[in-house]
Amino acid sequence: METKILFLDDPYKSEADAKVLKVEDNKVWLDQTIFYAFSGGQASDTGMIDKNRVKDVQKQGKEFVHILEESPSFEQGDIVHLKLDWERRFNLMRLHSAAHIVHKIFADKTGIKKLIGSNISPEKARLDYAYEKNINSFLPEIEKEVNELIEKQIDIKTFPDEDNPEKRWWQLNSYEDWKMPCGGTHVRNTKEIGAIKLKRKNIGAAKERIEITLN
Ligand SMILES: [Zn+2]
Repeated sequence: METKILFLDDPYKSEADAKVLKVEDNKVWLDQTIFYAFSGGQASDTGMIDKNRVKDVQKQGKEFVHILEESPSFEQGDIVHLKLDWERRFNLMRLHSAAHIVHKIFADKTGIKKLIGSNISPEKARLDYAYEKNINSFLPEIEKEVNELIEKQIDIKTFPDEDNPEKRWWQLNSYEDWKMPCGGTHVRNTKEIGAIKLKRKNIGAAKERIEITLN
């Protein structure tokens, strides 16, 4: 029961109809979905299926399992209406796109490239690096450069790999050195991100974290 994914070709699709394939308690399987399931550090979407609240989405192989707050009002075979908590998802798209830009500029500027973790929530994104020293002194310059780049209103593209359609890429304009593997949801242009802020957090010995927030 592979779920057809609608958010890859159109991450701006906030509503759609789908057919219910299976219901188990508060878990729902659909023929297609606009709901992102936690992956690559990006949080799952929340929203509604008809009048039922979706609190989490999990990916099991090629199936998306929509977890409702309560057992649903619909049943197998029904056509239902899906609606995302759009403001929340849009912030995830903005922060995820910002995280790619911060990572690239930070790595280029400082030579610190060993990313050991990342996470995108609706409130903030974080990038964790293996590094022995305090990165605070780098951040004002990085923040300035990231915001200057964002202001240039550059197109962001996401597309499947030519040889392996399961793999997807994120790319800024057509710049070859700005191409990174990613299957998340993103804005179409840097102008949608708006100005960002960076903050350092120490998360243990030889581990440095950059937190990204939106203005
Ligand atoms: Zn991404």
